[in-house]
Amino acid sequence: MMALLSIRGLGVRYISDGREVEALAGVDLDADAGERLAVIGESGSGKSTLARAIAGLLPPEAKLVGNVAWPGVGRTAQNGRDIGFVFQDPASSLDPVMTVGEQVAEVAYANLEMGWPAARRLAVELLDRVRLPEPAALAKAYPHQLSGGQKQRVAIAAAIAAGPRLLIADEATSALDTIVQAEIVALIRRLVTEDGMALMFVSHDIALAANLADRIAVFRHGRMVETGPTAGLIAAPKSDYTSALLAAHLGLEA
Ligand code: ADP
Ligand code: MG
Repeated sequence: MMALLSIRGLGVRYISDGREVEALAGVDLDADAGERLAVIGESGSGKSTLARAIAGLLPPEAKLVGNVAWPGVGRTAQNGRDIGFVFQDPASSLDPVMTVGEQVAEVAYANLEMGWPAARRLAVELLDRVRLPEPAALAKAYPHQLSGGQKQRVAIAAAIAAGPRLLIADEATSALDTIVQAEIVALIRRLVTEDGMALMFVSHDIALAANLADRIAVFRHGRMVETGPTAGLIAAPKSDYTSALLAAHLGLEA
C-alpha cells in the first residue's frame, strides 16, 4: 500500500534569544491512508513539534531538517484542505468574535469550490455530524455560549470541513472532563471511520491512545523510541521506557 505520509530524517530545532532547543531528531515515520496512529510520550518529548511539522504549523523560530513527503496526496499537503488539525484548547483555537457556523463555513469556503451560502449550509450539516443539538440555531452562537465539549465539537467540525485525508488531534481531549473526553474520543473514532481519514492522535496518555489507535509511536526527548501495532506494543514493549509509561498509566509495577 502506498503511504499517505512519509517522514524521513526529520529534525526540528527552536532558536530563540540565542538559545537552541533540539525538539526532534532523526524521525522516520510512515502513515498509510486511513491508518490510526497514536503519538505518545511525556510532556516536552516533541509530540506537538512533530504534529506541527507535519501540518506546516511550526513557528518562525523553528528550523526543520529532513523531509515530510505526501505520496498519497501527490503534492505538499495543506493544513485545512488535506489536513485537519484539532488543538488542545478550543477556547483559543476558535475566534471569539465569529459565530461557530461562520468558522466552520470559512474552512469549507476557503478550500472547496463553493460559494458562501453553500458553505453555510455545509457548516450546519457538519455541526449536525458532530452531534451538536439544534445545529441550525447553534450555528448562530458564539464560542463563549458553548460548553468546553461543545466548543471542541465545533473545532472538530471545522477541522473536517474540507474533507481532509489526515486528522491530527494534538491532546484534543486532554483539557476535558473524563466523561466528555470519552465522548470526544468516540466522536473522533466515528468520523475517521465514516470518512476513511487517517488519524494522528497525539497524547501523553498511552491507555487512551491504545483505545483508539492501530499503531503507536512512542517519543522521548525528541526521538522515536519505538513504533508497532497497538496490541503487540502493549503486550510486549521493546523499550524499557514504553514499559515504564505503561506501568505508570495502568497503575502496574514496572
Ligand atoms: P510535547 O508536545 O511532547 O509536550 P513539544 O513538541 O511541545 O513537546 O516540545 C518539545 C521541546 O521543544 C520542549 O523542550 C519544548 O520546551 C521545546 N519547544 C516547543 N516549542 C518551542 C518554541 N516555540 N521555542 C522554543 N522551544 C520550544
Ligand atoms: Mg504538546
